[in-house]
Amino acid sequence: MLSPVFPPTSLRLFSSSVADAGAQFSRLASATPRLLFCDHHVCPATGPAGEELLTDVAWLGSDGASKVLVLISGTHGAEGWAGSAVQADFLQQATERGWQPPADTAVLLIHALNPWGMAWDRRCDHDGIDLNRNFIDFDQPPPPNSGYLALRDLLMLEDSRARAEGLRLYAEKHGQTALEIAVSGGQYMDPVGPFFGGFGKSHARQLIEKLINDFTLGEKQLAVIDLHTGLGPYGYGEIICDHQPDSDGTRVARNWYGDAVTLPLAGTSSSVPKLGLMDYGWHAIMNASSCFVTLEYGTYGTEPLFDTILADHRLHATSPIDWSSAHTQQVKNTMRRHFCPPDKQWQEMVLWRGRQVIRLALEGLQH
Ligand SMILES: [Zn+2]
Repeated sequence: MLSPVFPPTSLRLFSSSVADAGAQFSRLASATPRLLFCDHHVCPATGPAGEELLTDVAWLGSDGASKVLVLISGTHGAEGWAGSAVQADFLQQATERGWQPPADTAVLLIHALNPWGMAWDRRCDHDGIDLNRNFIDFDQPPPPNSGYLALRDLLMLEDSRARAEGLRLYAEKHGQTALEIAVSGGQYMDPVGPFFGGFGKSHARQLIEKLINDFTLGEKQLAVIDLHTGLGPYGYGEIICDHQPDSDGTRVARNWYGDAVTLPLAGTSSSVPKLGLMDYGWHAIMNASSCFVTLEYGTYGTEPLFDTILADHRLHATSPIDWSSAHTQQVKNTMRRHFCPPDKQWQEMVLWRGRQVIRLALEGLQH
């Protein structure tokens, strides 16, 4: 009998609560041979039961290393379960194999960047902010999104058939890409609605900027991998590069990750071009031999994605929500399932691709 790709112990790395995920991360990080430190940062908002929520940060290797692999999970809260498992799997392997970072290389792991979103099964943070639309210059007027304004009332409709018909008509008139940009490209006027980029810097953005500063990451060669789920083919981990197509970042990404790299700005990705991505905050401090990629694991496709997220935004449009109600639980179960399918096959694909992409990044940093 053939053995499974991953043993059951690896699949148990997919946690079901932020507290368990965080405890697992700290325990596994503490066991690794080259841990320099493991620290945590408290989220200003609490979980549904009033519990404290943490972002954990671990550094493996020398603090003087000039090359750093940065692995981030939970940027989009509810998408964090897979990223958390990939980080845990990496740490577990490091310990089991006595793995050490290559010379002059360190690994920075940021676990549950948006722990509030994980705890509440939401993509946004406690201020309704999508962290991956929040990295704009707030000293300038926010970028307009007239498509979102035109669709806003439609998006919040309970009647799913009327909503689908309205969106279909918009796509017929303007194209599918224009529809996806209008809905998900980022908007800066509606804190209750989806893909809201915020009125100012989010808590998590300030934390990222603090970490960049504390670890002088602007002086390092960086391989940043931000782990997401919910977009693209089921189980496939797409390497999305939001650097400009003709840029050093894209050349580095292609050198390291090969032809699998997709570019939203060239129209080759499951992801459309977006405003305020966290990528841009990192691009601004990166040298010419660094790159930032999103590792995006697909689940159930774009239409179910929008339906799922919109149901969650309608639920939270009238807060506070009744966490124990059947309707809330149904919306939250759908969120959980969309962003982390309870399927061993999907979880094996996530871990396998995670190992592969991490290996490519570490090899890339050595060349
Ligand atoms: Zn995401």
